[in-house]
Amino acid sequence: MPASSSLPCRVGVVVEAPQHSGLLGALDYLSAMPLPPGTLVRVPLGRRVVSGIVWRGDGGVSAAGEAVAEQDLKAVIEVLEGLPPLPDAWRQLTQFASAYYQRSIGEMALMVLPPELRQLDAIQWGRRLKRLNKGLEKASGPAEAASATFATESERGDRALPVLTQQQAAALDQLAQPQDKPFLLWGSTGSGKTEVYLRQARRALDEGRQVLMMVPEINLTPQLEARVAERFAGRTIVSLHSGLTPAQRLRNWLMAHYGHADLILGTRLSVFTPLPRLGLIVVDEEHDPSYKQQDGARYSARDLAVYRARLEKVPVILGSATPSLESWYNALPEAEGGAGRYVRLAMPARVGDGDMPRVQVLDLSRTPKSPRGEAPPPLARELLDAIAQRIEQGEQSLVLLNRRGYAPVLHCSDCGWKSGCPHCSAWRVFHKVDRTLRCHHCGFTERVPRACPDCGNTDIQPVGRGTERLEEQLAEVLPQARLGRIDADVTRHKGALEERLADVHAGEVDVLVGTQMVAKGHDFRRITLVAAVNPDAALFASDFRAAERQFALLLQAAGRAGRDADVAGHSEMWVQTWHPMHPLYQALRRYDYADFAAQQLKEREMAGLPPYASLAMLRAEGKTQQAAQDFLSLAVAGVQDLAGELGGITLYPPVPTPVQRVANVERAQLMIESPSRPALQRFLGQCQQVWLDLAQKNRRSGLIRWAVDVDPLSI
Ligand code: ADP
Ligand code: ZN
Ligand code: ZN
Repeated sequence: MPASSSLPCRVGVVVEAPQHSGLLGALDYLSAMPLPPGTLVRVPLGRRVVSGIVWRGDGGVSAAGEAVAEQDLKAVIEVLEGLPPLPDAWRQLTQFASAYYQRSIGEMALMVLPPELRQLDAIQWGRRLKRLNKGLEKASGPAEAASATFATESERGDRALPVLTQQQAAALDQLAQPQDKPFLLWGSTGSGKTEVYLRQARRALDEGRQVLMMVPEINLTPQLEARVAERFAGRTIVSLHSGLTPAQRLRNWLMAHYGHADLILGTRLSVFTPLPRLGLIVVDEEHDPSYKQQDGARYSARDLAVYRARLEKVPVILGSATPSLESWYNALPEAEGGAGRYVRLAMPARVGDGDMPRVQVLDLSRTPKSPRGEAPPPLARELLDAIAQRIEQGEQSLVLLNRRGYAPVLHCSDCGWKSGCPHCSAWRVFHKVDRTLRCHHCGFTERVPRACPDCGNTDIQPVGRGTERLEEQLAEVLPQARLGRIDADVTRHKGALEERLADVHAGEVDVLVGTQMVAKGHDFRRITLVAAVNPDAALFASDFRAAERQFALLLQAAGRAGRDADVAGHSEMWVQTWHPMHPLYQALRRYDYADFAAQQLKEREMAGLPPYASLAMLRAEGKTQQAAQDFLSLAVAGVQDLAGELGGITLYPPVPTPVQRVANVERAQLMIESPSRPALQRFLGQCQQVWLDLAQKNRRSGLIRWAVDVDPLSI
C-alpha cells in the first residue's frame, strides 16, 4: 500500500517492545487512509518489520509528547485485512494491565494475542484466513441457528439437569439480582459450584451472550470441556490455553473475536480474549497461584477478570473452597472487618451424603520408636495399617508428598560432600530411575558419580526422600499393594497423565503416591484415604503466603476423598505432623476455612501485609550478586525523594532471593510496600522512567535484567 498516493493520516501504533527499550506508548506512523483503533498492521521498526496495533487513529500526539514532523515518519507497510479491529474494551483492558503491571502497552497488547497473529505478514494472513474461513463457516452454523432452536434445545437439556440443592438455588437467586459487585462463590469441594456456573452460564447464553470460564490449569480443561459440551449441546465451545497448537489457538481465538464462539474455556491467558458479546466471567479455583503469570508481564488473570467485568458491566463469579485471602477480605462484610466489596455466596455442604473425610492429625512425636537396628517405617505405623486396611476393603489411598525425585540430595559421610548444582545455589536431586543428579532450577543433569567426587568414597547416600523413594519404600512394606505414582517426572510425555489417571479410575491402583499435581480438581471416586506425609515445612516457610497455600492444598486434597456416596461415610484425611496443635491443622480438622482465614488476616493486619497493604517487588539479575544489589540500591536512591513526597511508601533494603543463583545468574530483590494501592501505583508509575534511565546508564555494570512484579505471589 503506497502511503504517498493520497493525503496521509497520522496513526499511533503500539509495537512489541519490552519495557526496557523505553517505548512506553504508541509510535506515530503514516497511513494512506484512516485506520480505526484496534487494527492490526505491519510497520517498520529500525531495520525490522514488526506487527503492531493501531492505538490512536486520530493523528494525536506521540508518546514523546511532541508531534514528530511528518516528513520524519515512516509509513504503515500493510494492514491485516479481514480482521475486525480489536474492540475498545480490549484495548482498555490491555492498557490498564500494562500500566498496572508496569510494562509497555505494546508488549502487553501483542503478548496476549495468539502467537501466530503477531508473526504473519499480510499475505500469509490472507492465506490463513481463507483456510480458516472455511472452517469457521462450518462451525458458525449452530451458533447462528441457536436462537431459532433454543426452545427445544433448552427443553432437551433441562430434562437431564439435577435438582438444585437448596444452597445452589439460593446462590443462583442472588446471582440473578442485578449487582455491580463481583461474586465470591465460596463452596466446599463437591458442593456443586460447577453446577452453579453452568446454570448461570445458561442464563447468559440464553440472552445471546458469550461466557468466559477460566480454570487454573490446562490439565483441568478437558474435564470441564466435556461437562460443558454435554450441558450445552449445539453451542459453540472453544478452549484457549498454551497446550493448543498455534493454528488451533488462532482459530479458537478468532471464533471468540468474531463472536462465533458462545463459551470460551481457558487458562489465565484467556482473560484477554476479545469477546464482542461477553455476558459472564467465571474464575474457578480463584485462589490458585497459576492465575498469576510468573515471567514477563506478571499479571494476575483473576484480578484482571474482576477489572474486565466492571469495565464491560458483566457479572463475574470467583469460585473456591479456600478463597485467596485477598478475595476473602474483599467479600467479608464491613461489619465483620472486611472490605465489603464483593458479594459472598456460601455453599458449605457437599451435594448428597458425601461428607468431607474425617481428619486424623497424627502426632509424630508420639509414634513408637522402631526397635534397635531396624529402619523406621516410611510412614507412621498407624497410617500404614490404615492404608493396608483400605487395600483389604478394595479401596484406594492417595499419599501426598510435595517433592519429586528419589532424594533431594546425595551426601558423602566421609568428607561431607553434597550434590550441589555448580550453576545454582541449590542441591541437585537424585533420580534413581535413570541414575541422574538433576537440578530442578536450571535443569543441569549428570550421571550419578560412582564415588564421592571429592574423596573417592564409594558409599554416598541419599538424604531425605521424594515421591520416587516413597513409592519404593511403600512397595517394601505393603507388598500386597499395587502402587502408582503421579508427579511431573512421570507425566512429562503427552498423554502420560491421562493414562495414569485412567489406571486409578479403573481401580488398577491401590495406593497412589503423588505431588500436589494430583490434589487439584481430579475426581477420584474410590479414594477413601488421603494422607499428607510431610506437610510441616510450609508452617515455617519465610513466604507469608505459605500457610494459606498449604491450607488450600490440604483441603483440596481432602476433597479428593470420598466422592462416592457409598464410600463417603468412612473416608479419612491423615496429616503426619510434629506440630499437631498448630492452628492450621486445628482449623483443618474442623474444615473451618473462615476460622483459618480470620487467624491469617489478624497476622497480616499486624504485619502490614496483603490484603491490608499492597506490595511490589523490584527484582534484578546480575552477573554477580553485587551487581544485582548495586542496581537495586541505586534504584532506591533514585526514588527516595519521590517516595518522601508522595508519602506512605516503604522501600526495604535489597536482599538476595531465596534461591539466589540460578543458571549462574545472581538474583536480588527489594520490596516496596504501601497501605494504599493507588499510592503504590502512582509511585511505581513515576519510578519507571527513573529506573529505565538508570538501567541504561549502568548497562555495563554486570546487570543482566530487572523487572517490577506488582502484587507478587511469592516473596
Ligand atoms: P464443585 O465444583 O463444587 O466441586 P461439582 O459441581 O463438581 O462440585 O459437583 C460435585 C458432584 O455433584 C458432581 O458430580 C455433580 O454432577 C454433582 N451435582 C452437582 N449439583 C448437583 C445436584 N443439585 N444434584 C445432584 N448432583 C449434583
Ligand atoms: Zn567424600
Ligand atoms: Zn542448577
